[in-house]
Amino acid sequence: MRIEEDIKLDFKDVLIRPKRSTLASRKEVDINRIYEFKWSRRTYQGVPIIAANMDGVGTMAMARAFAAMGHGKTVALHKHYPLERLLEFYQTDGNTNVWYSIGVTEKDEEKLDAFLAHSLQKTGKGINKLCIDVANGYSEPFVSFVKKMRDKLPDITIMAGNVVTGEMAEELILSGADVVKVGIGPGSVCTTRKMTGVGYPQLSAIIECADAAHGLGGFVCADGGCTVPGDLAKAFGAGADFVMLGGMLAGHDQCEGDVIDEGGKKIVQFYGMSSDTAMHKHAGGVAEYRASEGKTVRVPYRGDVVATATAMMGGLRSACTYVGARRLKELSKRTTFIRVSQQLNTVFGNE
Ligand code: 5GP
Repeated sequence: MRIEEDIKLDFKDVLIRPKRSTLASRKEVDINRIYEFKWSRRTYQGVPIIAANMDGVGTMAMARAFAAMGHGKTVALHKHYPLERLLEFYQTDGNTNVWYSIGVTEKDEEKLDAFLAHSLQKTGKGINKLCIDVANGYSEPFVSFVKKMRDKLPDITIMAGNVVTGEMAEELILSGADVVKVGIGPGSVCTTRKMTGVGYPQLSAIIECADAAHGLGGFVCADGGCTVPGDLAKAFGAGADFVMLGGMLAGHDQCEGDVIDEGGKKIVQFYGMSSDTAMHKHAGGVAEYRASEGKTVRVPYRGDVVATATAMMGGLRSACTYVGARRLKELSKRTTFIRVSQQLNTVFGNE
């Protein structure tokens, strides 16, 4: 047994120190990023926010709303859409702002193969971004799976995770990932830290993984733990290239969940993808050998996601003005974190 004495930080443990700035208004700030991916050689341009591949967030309706807003935000479609619906979506809506999500099960792979075999893939409207997502990205079979996907899909942008340490971020990039997804345990409906005692404070995970990934020409996506727009600013300030959001995008019209009237108060159910709720819905129950590592919560119904997304982007622009970053790209260079004892715990809009 060993104890690491270094202090590791979460979003709530820091604030961003203001810096002298020549910017007169947040209107002058450009929060778009342009990336060229190491392996696929494709480019991305837009506001690098991704809706998480969760039932109540990574939906086709969310992708349509983001596309209509026109800022280049993307959606990792959840993996439970049937093949026919996915083919229809790619055919009609195209592939510009969605990631096709896949786990590492045979069933997931068969569905992906069936999609790839479809003539749509050859028209340029097929999958061009793939999100390979497992709760624990540290296993050898997962790394082999990433390698296999890279060999099979040389020109598709691959995001893979989740991991929280530099050496594993490097391993995934060297195995073919363009973007490494970072976060074990920070999610708003995640109970991994409680059930297993495993995890890593998210701000430190981002800092360490970004440093490792950038050294190899890879990118990182900070996944989980953002509860307010300021957390997005902290994630980008820490070096994240993309930020993935679950809870902050839950409860909207685009979430494809039922709105329940509870004594005059409208609420929506939101649950982790390894919660009892999700496992009953998609796998017919919780397998005997595992425990659920996600919970089910009720969040207030929040209407159209456009207002929430606009407020988030406003928060991010404003953060950039406070530190004098004319472009989101400059935010991490201009960020000095100060350690604080303050807690900001409630999810934006859910308080
Ligand atoms: P949030 O933005 O809600 O804080 O975090 C979203 C992320 O939580 C997702 O992208 C995913 O990585 C993670 N997540 C979603 N469902 C579960 C779950 O049931 N268990 C765990 N451990 N993590 C989850």
